[in-house]
Amino acid sequence: MHEWALAEAILTSAKEIAEKEKLKEVTEVTIRIGELQQVEAGILRFAISQMKPPIFKKAKFRILKAKTTLKCRVCETTWEFNLKKLDKNTAEAIHFVPEVAHTYVKCPKCASPDFEIVNGRGVWLENIKGAK
Ligand SMILES: [Zn+2]
Repeated sequence: MHEWALAEAILTSAKEIAEKEKLKEVTEVTIRIGELQQVEAGILRFAISQMKPPIFKKAKFRILKAKTTLKCRVCETTWEFNLKKLDKNTAEAIHFVPEVAHTYVKCPKCASPDFEIVNGRGVWLENIKGAK
């Protein structure tokens, strides 16, 4: 699964940052996953624990979910989209295919279905803490 590739990418970037910051060891790594992104946090955590280089020996990996923010292309209103407010089938459809969101979600101000996903997709490193 792609969690392993993701774990490798996260560790590679985190290691680069740690080296740039001249950290001798990393104590905490915060990873943020967009809620529309299909990632199993448990598998990701396991993959990280199996692959991590020695610099992360004592590091605590925090895996957090990021909320979804949408922006209307017509009136530029931005709003936070809450997956939990949708019925289960819709939420699942959106989870698997973010593009489906356009069928179900409309701008709260002008009702346009033409919006972009500003936040909620992708995976990124939010923070790295360590000792120099
Ligand atoms: Zn609008």
